[in-house]
Amino acid sequence: MALAPVASITTRCCIAGGGPAGMMLGFLLARAGVDVVVLEKHADFLRDFRGDTVHPSTLEVMHELGVLEEFLKLPHDEVRELGGQIGDEFVQLADFSHLPTVSKFIALVPQWDFLDFLADHARVYPTFKLIMQAEVVDLLESEGRVAGVRAETPDGELDVRADLTIGADGRGSIVRDKAGLAAQEFGAPMDVLWFRLSRKPSDGEQTLGRIKAGKMMVMLNRGQYWQCGYLIRKGEFENIKARGIEQFRADIVSVVPFSGDRMHELPDWEPIKLLTVRIDRLLKWFRPGLLCIGDAAHAMSPIGGVGINLAIQDAVATANILAERLTRNTVGLADLERVQLRRDFPTRMTQELQVFMQNNVIDRVLGNTDFRAPWPLKLFNRWPFLRRIPARLVGVGFRPEHVRSPDSARPRPPSRPEHFSLWDVLPWDLLPWRW
Ligand SMILES: Cc1cc2nc3c(=O)[nH]c(=O)nc-3n(C[C@H](O)[C@H](O)[C@H](O)COP(=O)(O)OP(=O)(O)OC[C@H]3O[C@@H](n4cnc5c(N)ncnc54)[C@H](O)[C@@H]3O)c2cc1C
Repeated sequence: MALAPVASITTRCCIAGGGPAGMMLGFLLARAGVDVVVLEKHADFLRDFRGDTVHPSTLEVMHELGVLEEFLKLPHDEVRELGGQIGDEFVQLADFSHLPTVSKFIALVPQWDFLDFLADHARVYPTFKLIMQAEVVDLLESEGRVAGVRAETPDGELDVRADLTIGADGRGSIVRDKAGLAAQEFGAPMDVLWFRLSRKPSDGEQTLGRIKAGKMMVMLNRGQYWQCGYLIRKGEFENIKARGIEQFRADIVSVVPFSGDRMHELPDWEPIKLLTVRIDRLLKWFRPGLLCIGDAAHAMSPIGGVGINLAIQDAVATANILAERLTRNTVGLADLERVQLRRDFPTRMTQELQVFMQNNVIDRVLGNTDFRAPWPLKLFNRWPFLRRIPARLVGVGFRPEHVRSPDSARPRPPSRPEHFSLWDVLPWDLLPWRW
């Protein structure tokens, strides 16, 4: 039997994966005039819920790219405060209104709209190419370095030869496996069940976490419906299923009593999706000719909903460091290491906070029917300025990135000074008084 011939294309940079990290990097590199090919295994971006939170620091990046106004014309909801209902006590946890960013809220935008938006803006640049239904299955190697990828497409196999390959193919990354990059695992005591419940005006507005009777649920206000995340002990899903859907519905109603009249929306397990929570981080994010970013370099826990944001920040830092070198084809191993050095600190800090929250809050809550709001949390109700700390950690995070990669269509100096003064970087927004 004759084998189908392998088609081949050559580019400067090949990105495996069209998620937030891959699409943002593709956009930024094309904008800088770099020849870039993004390979995405799915036919479109329209998939199950996988996070809708576009954080203030990502909105700041959109502002720096000059597309924020247009982006916010997409249907979206704005979260300006976060709260927690712990037993009978309500605690206001985060207030985004003091952040040093243009948008002082989290925008809830379906991830497919966000990715379509990035793709549409990237396509404006002639050096951008997005190939859908192209699943990366292997790496191409030449003289000890990664020289591109092999992908399977509906038309047969495709080799994309590239000076630099980026693994942005998420937490199940085949690129990182094939490259033999080792990861450190941090474990997680919980998994999350995601589903929707319709919303009524009488439910209240606020996006919040609910803790009651040893159970925990997060509810994101999406206008017409609540996007719900119900936390369970790791590996418990099969046992929960074995107890039956009726028992599961009763558990939900015990945490959120007003949801009782909507339990017909969960007739069986079909609308309920399991997110297996994982936290890990590559020890080394690169090899000659290859760099991993986003979830492929560091799978994040859903705590704080920061995975998309970190993926975007990685993309911005990668473009800042590599875009101009890519145009001249002078990217060396030291440049790839600079990307890891730049992004390792914020990733490490965020993951350590997530592990702390997992072990000290979530692990204690699940199954503990007598959990009460710890006293430091109660201070948030008494002193509102304390709410700026979680807002800063969640909304902006550690070491926010700013767009410094060039725009080939509009050569001009970056919108912000290259070096901040101490005045610029100190977290003034955390101070208790207003300016
Ligand atoms: C159920 C769920 C809920 C979540 N909720 C939130 C949230 O509320 N907020 C938040 O910030 N984060 C959330 N996350 C995490 C968030 O989705 C990720 O951290 C973020 O999307 C990482 O972006 P990424 O681009 O690195 O990877 P991904 O978003 O995983 O993108 C990887 C892309 O690569 C493609 N791909 C994979 N393998 C291949 C291959 N072999 N060849 C070609 N393409 C490939 C995938 O189809 C995908 O499009 C959630 C995740 C899940 C699963």
